[in-house]
Amino acid sequence: MSNISIALSLADSHCHIGIDCTDSDIDALADQFNNGLVDKDDFFHIMTTYHLDVGFVDRLLSQLKSSVVVAYFGVHPWYSHLFSTEDHGDVDLLQLKKLHYNKVLVPAPSEDLLSVLPVPISLEEHMTKLERLIEIHGHKFKCGIGEIGLDKLFRVPSNGYFGSQLAQNNGATKLSSCKVSMEHQTAVFDRQLQLANKLKKHISVHCVKAHGLLYDIIPRYTSISSVILHSYSGSSDQAKRWITTYKGKKSKLFFSFSNWINGTDNKRCLLEDIIGYAEDNQILVETDVSVDDYLVRGKHEDYFLHLEGIFEKVGTILGRDQDEMVELLRRNMCRSIE
Ligand SMILES: [Zn+2]
Repeated sequence: MSNISIALSLADSHCHIGIDCTDSDIDALADQFNNGLVDKDDFFHIMTTYHLDVGFVDRLLSQLKSSVVVAYFGVHPWYSHLFSTEDHGDVDLLQLKKLHYNKVLVPAPSEDLLSVLPVPISLEEHMTKLERLIEIHGHKFKCGIGEIGLDKLFRVPSNGYFGSQLAQNNGATKLSSCKVSMEHQTAVFDRQLQLANKLKKHISVHCVKAHGLLYDIIPRYTSISSVILHSYSGSSDQAKRWITTYKGKKSKLFFSFSNWINGTDNKRCLLEDIIGYAEDNQILVETDVSVDDYLVRGKHEDYFLHLEGIFEKVGTILGRDQDEMVELLRRNMCRSIE
């Protein structure tokens, strides 16, 4: 098999729609998917992260003739500050912004940052919208909850959020000193876990430097069908704890590896450790890139190389041949979304 044909036989367990995406990019993507870019069902597991990419995924799903996409609906921790968990009653919009962002950002935002931050979105209304989309598209596409999670290092960009139309100088993203309080991140995360639990869906989880807290929260939700730790960056001891905790449980556990985060040389030992501890049926591969950035811009080979790169590394560590690996990973992917 050539390299690309290997990648075409796999599945991408975690990818995105880019922040520069447009409606016509989505239409072009739908064309490619409808014209048989890949002939496998459930190939592209596309995350949503905030209020804007949800619209793009909805638009994409509405045009697809086959179920080549698995859709994930959620609020990423990098956007959690845009959502309010409280009903502030009858205050004017400026006052509402001030109240909300002063509460969820640490330190409180400067006047400049506050001026570019949007009026907060009601988390409850957003969750209702996501649930509705799952209801509509769930007949044809497998749906999960994602990308959700916790991020202790994230700082709010000085234009308010990644993808804000208030573009920054020369497109470079400057970061403010404001972080989103862990209390707020946890509240937003928790609310989404409740939805996943209620709908018995799988979740794709992001975590940076908050692995202890994440591990304290997720196992409480016992009806989530699969917990997929994407581009896992915790310690190998923490990974071991996850594996032990989920042994024999109804909810399944997966580690999804990307080439650019988990496949680098300095992460080789961690990758070997986790694959060593995990069962073979807990391993997935992903690109964690924005599919439109590659596929609409003619960079197909580069896209598939992301998948092929991590495929080879995982295969080498497991000591399995290509055909076995293709079969294993495809089977694992199917298990992760049942
Ligand atoms: Zn991601």
